[in-house]
Amino acid sequence: MSLPSTLVLATGNPGKVDELRALLADLSIILVPAADLDNPPEVVEDAETLAGNARKKARAFHDHTARATLADDTGLEVAALDGRPGVHTARFAGPDATPDANKRRLLDELEGVADRRARFRTVVALVTADGTAHTFEGICRGTITTAPRGTGGFGYDPLFQPEGHDQTFAEMPADAKNEVSHRRRALDALHDFLARAA
Ligand code: IMP
Repeated sequence: MSLPSTLVLATGNPGKVDELRALLADLSIILVPAADLDNPPEVVEDAETLAGNARKKARAFHDHTARATLADDTGLEVAALDGRPGVHTARFAGPDATPDANKRRLLDELEGVADRRARFRTVVALVTADGTAHTFEGICRGTITTAPRGTGGFGYDPLFQPEGHDQTFAEMPADAKNEVSHRRRALDALHDFLARAA
């Protein structure tokens, strides 16, 4: 594969776009966020795995633009819940669940549970201009706290304390979270792959 000159991002999340821009800055690739496209496709995330959803999103945007495309999907995998909510993390408390409802559901399911080990897992899918798919995974291990702590970040951040730290993701400065996060690790693997093609 040769290094793509342009990468379409199958996300409308400005935080993710900024993170990607910072991380891929040295590769001189033009990043095109979904918000800059005419009629970006709406993709239903109904695959059974994170990789399946990431590939589905990347494939839909590749079909729409005929350009190399990136997409990601993240799940929280809790040991005492046999890996749930996993691929259903965004909808843990129901189809249109708010982040607060999802966090409440997690605390309720772990009420009185001593084993609070969990991990965030991100899968990033790259579909190159010729239609070939590649996936990259990043994992961040930690524990689920017994109550929310901190106001930063998003999603489940106030409940997730990464291994080796005594703050939750929501208590850590954003760059400290980004240094150890699941998404960062998946993007590092993508970066290595792209740098080898440069
Ligand atoms: P998505 O794949 O980024 O759409 O995320 C799926 C679900 O995981 C959503 O409920 C997000 O809020 C949650 N999530 C993804 N990444 C993080 C994170 O870094 N911290 C906390 N929650 C996250």
